[in-house]
Amino acid sequence: MGAAETAKEIVRIGSTAGLSKDVIDLLEKKLALLMDENIALAKENVVLIAKVSVLENENRNLRTQLQDAQPVVGAFHEFGGVLWKRTANGFEKYPYCKECPHHPVMMGMPPRGRPMFWRCSSEHHAPFQGLPKV
Ligand SMILES: [Zn+2]
Repeated sequence: MGAAETAKEIVRIGSTAGLSKDVIDLLEKKLALLMDENIALAKENVVLIAKVSVLENENRNLRTQLQDAQPVVGAFHEFGGVLWKRTANGFEKYPYCKECPHHPVMMGMPPRGRPMFWRCSSEHHAPFQGLPKV
């Protein structure tokens, strides 16, 4: 039963219960106020439902973007001319060669009097530039 039908029902009950016309008129005025308030709330509800729908879509899109932006454990990340394999909380200790197709692990070479560099088993070199930022 809708609000309008409920209001008519209340007036009908009042008149069949033997209430005076003054009391029934007063009840009708009060019910009219409630009806107006009900209509305003229903309109507001339609606007809020639309806003919730927009926010749900936005939230879904942002969650997808966030998931896509999450680093994948085991994936390579290029930094300083070498490949770093991601772990759950950073990177492995040694990088991998980006020149070799099978990406072997590189070793740090500290030549005397020269800056340290990374070297793979196929003699590819890359200057040591520290670890990539997590
Ligand atoms: Zn190599």
